[in-house]
Amino acid sequence: MTETLINLYDLSDAELSALMAELNQPAFRAKQLAEWLYKHKVATFEAMTNLPKPLRETLAARARIGGFVQVAEQHSAESATTKRLYRLPDAQLIESVLMEYEDGRRTACISTQAGCAMGCVFCATGQMGFARHLSAGEIVEQAIHFARLLEGEGERLSNVVLMGMGEPLHNYENTLRAIRRLNDPNGLNIGQRHITLSTVGLVPEIKRFAEEGLQVGLAISLHAATDAERSALLPINRRYPIREVLEAAHYYVAKTGRRVTFEWALIRGENDTVEQAERLGALLRGLLCHVNLIPLNPTGGYGGAPSDPVRVEAFQAVLARHGISSTVRVRRGIDIQAGCGQLKTEVLRRQRTRRTAS
Ligand code: SAH
Ligand code: SF4
Repeated sequence: MTETLINLYDLSDAELSALMAELNQPAFRAKQLAEWLYKHKVATFEAMTNLPKPLRETLAARARIGGFVQVAEQHSAESATTKRLYRLPDAQLIESVLMEYEDGRRTACISTQAGCAMGCVFCATGQMGFARHLSAGEIVEQAIHFARLLEGEGERLSNVVLMGMGEPLHNYENTLRAIRRLNDPNGLNIGQRHITLSTVGLVPEIKRFAEEGLQVGLAISLHAATDAERSALLPINRRYPIREVLEAAHYYVAKTGRRVTFEWALIRGENDTVEQAERLGALLRGLLCHVNLIPLNPTGGYGGAPSDPVRVEAFQAVLARHGISSTVRVRRGIDIQAGCGQLKTEVLRRQRTRRTAS
């Protein structure tokens, strides 16, 4: 039923105007509708009090305002992280996370796909396999729910990272549309520089993304400094080896002037040695970049463990000697399964256990 209704979050400004024109409404109604959707973030048509009642009824018969049902929420006071699991109209489950930082940033980490086709071995989402792409509206709606939550507390969503479930550049068109909606002054009005996209390294799409004329931050999941090691962790490396990924990173910097971030999940005894740090330092020479070190989040389908803090420090020291800045990303909300895809895995496991028990 809901599938036949237009999801208003899927529509650009121009498309909202076209919808209003089709309903024989004056142009200013589109602006009013956009304000209800993105400024006031209302959840019902009844709440759109400056739209005539017949128009609200017509809209309710033709369209919907998103369509998520929240099925779980976990909050970790210690790491100021809130994780939510939503059910989509076709019963797919997706996760998003809100991170609240001491410097005032309020960052939503949102998903772009239900599942993921890339099969990275340590990733809970990769272990699930691919279900489907999210629509642009479904990507945006995740940010809207957190923005609504924050505004209820007198705060504002300041940043969005496309780092949840799925590979954003595999869902290129919808991800781009979502970024434009997030950024649009008539949309969520989040600055491009406050939006970051993380990719496993799809080379043609990184180049295409570089040409969009955007100032969005780019993060690339590297995780290893030789092709043999990277292919063992990220199967996509067999198609796009490290040399090509780095070439695409150089291209992104040249086109946008923005520093690229490389992500490196530190796995004990696998990719956390001083030799690997040296190799990474050599690879990144001359590139405007930053490295994010993330001690591995253990997942059910992968036997690896996070690196010890001394190893992490030693790794960072080598990078510093190469003139490469790095940060160790705190594993926020590890107690609430806030690693990519982990809450969904946990909820499904509990459901299975319940079924087995009954
Ligand atoms: N598909 C994109 C974005 C989502 S994953 C990508 O791969 O970049 C976001 C980041 O979390 C990636 O760097 C990914 O490699 C990392 N990641 C996934 N599972 C992890 C785990 N179990 N521990 C640490 N980092 C993980
Ligand atoms: Fe997909 Fe990213 Fe997970 Fe790899 S790390 S399986 S690309 S979500």
